[in-house]
Amino acid sequence: MTIGWHFNNTYSKLSETFKENIKPIPVTNPDLVILNEALASELDLDFSKIDKDELSKIFSGNLLPAGSNSIAQAYAGHQFGHFTMLGDGRAVLIGEHTTKSKKKFDIQFKGSGKTAFSRNGDGRAALGPMLREYIISEAMHTLKIPTTRSLAVAKTGEDIQREKVLQGAVLTRVASSHIRVGTFQYIAARQKEDELKILLDYTIGRHYPEIKNSNNKALDLINLLIDRQCNLVVNWMRVGFIHGVMNTDNMTISGETIDYGPCAFMDNYDPKTVFSSIDQTGRYAYCNQPVITKWNLARFAECLIPLIDKDQPKAIKIATETINSFENKYEEKWMNMMRDKLGLFGLDDKDKFLILDLLTWMHEKKADYTNTFLHLMKLNPKKDNLYSDKDFINWKERWEDRSSKNNGTSKKSMELMRNNNPLFIPRNHKIEEALEAAEQNDLKPLNKILEILKRPYDEQIGTEGYQSPSVSGEKYQTFCGT
Ligand code: AMP
Ligand code: MG
Repeated sequence: MTIGWHFNNTYSKLSETFKENIKPIPVTNPDLVILNEALASELDLDFSKIDKDELSKIFSGNLLPAGSNSIAQAYAGHQFGHFTMLGDGRAVLIGEHTTKSKKKFDIQFKGSGKTAFSRNGDGRAALGPMLREYIISEAMHTLKIPTTRSLAVAKTGEDIQREKVLQGAVLTRVASSHIRVGTFQYIAARQKEDELKILLDYTIGRHYPEIKNSNNKALDLINLLIDRQCNLVVNWMRVGFIHGVMNTDNMTISGETIDYGPCAFMDNYDPKTVFSSIDQTGRYAYCNQPVITKWNLARFAECLIPLIDKDQPKAIKIATETINSFENKYEEKWMNMMRDKLGLFGLDDKDKFLILDLLTWMHEKKADYTNTFLHLMKLNPKKDNLYSDKDFINWKERWEDRSSKNNGTSKKSMELMRNNNPLFIPRNHKIEEALEAAEQNDLKPLNKILEILKRPYDEQIGTEGYQSPSVSGEKYQTFCGT
């Protein structure tokens, strides 16, 4: 009975500075809730011959696979702008699994008990938030956005104390690595250049081997990360995703979305949308995400100053200029993304006005972000009087006029829109419904939303309610530290 694990745990071989060697803390009564068989098969893993009892032990951390070597990783981070020493306080990396095609993935348990980095936390996670991460991270994947994935969730059989008593759970997270901006900050704060070089080389070896022989690896890495993160945040903006807690410890060097805490998707278009209950000032609001991405990238560049140039003022100047390239790159990628959403080919001087005028109209009329693009594609699930508005009709004429410059490629234009505008996003009320039911052991709504979100760009039947924003009209709130 081989599952197919192939561990080669390179990070655990780094010095003690980078991690704590620790095993997951065993749980009393493990019980598998969900296993992502499609992802398992992408990883060349086969769990089909393992019985539920054993699967529960595996995915709760009670039974570690042969070849694993678990650690908690050290990192730091700017949380809401304040620098703090952090680390995996409730997670352990059990190892790096290599697939047949030689791709390497971190396998991490989240909610696996206390570590040296737990500070005042209990090291545990609750069922609702772990299933929430499962739903949203898998949706991000099918929405074609770089992300960590979710392989399984198992209940621990233990209660955990939050505002109320909740069921404990462990999520198995899969990532191309868990190296964060915060990992560099942790090492840089120790001011030992040899350690910083080790981390730089390790990261390049793992994610950016194309620059391993370059003359200025540190600078090249900053440039590559600017591109990856720019691409990532543009994709978030495309689908109305609000991460909610873009602290530097929650920004990966791989360019994958990580840490699905208080994140949620925007319904009606409002650039200032914030869901997280603790984000009082709107630091991580929808419209601030690009600004914060740049801010985080600047923190990353600061870490690498000693490796950019021996002459510190010169290194700072180079790093500053490099980081300042972000705005133009973002603007260009964002414009192209919006053109794609509108099915527009080529460039036109007036594109920016056309795009901004639509967004302004959506904001004023509180139009649903996702469904407005569906309306333009004649795929809006329900007839909405909103779109009979005179201003919208005028705007649409301008859009049609601009589209006609696409050289008669209306089929291609529709294809472009279909590839960029999802029909389905994880609607907040549907997530809540699935989580509430799962807490009562009813997994039907969970399985249903997961099934629909497997194909977010496709028309599907039996999806009533999954395309509309919540009808209650109550402001949706999400919570951190879950
Ligand atoms: P997050 O908000 O999930 O990005 O976590 C920020 C930091 O708090 C990380 O160092 C986590 O490991 C730590 N943390 C979050 N929840 C807990 C918990 N229940 N117990 C221990 N550490 C935690
Ligand atoms: Mg985090």
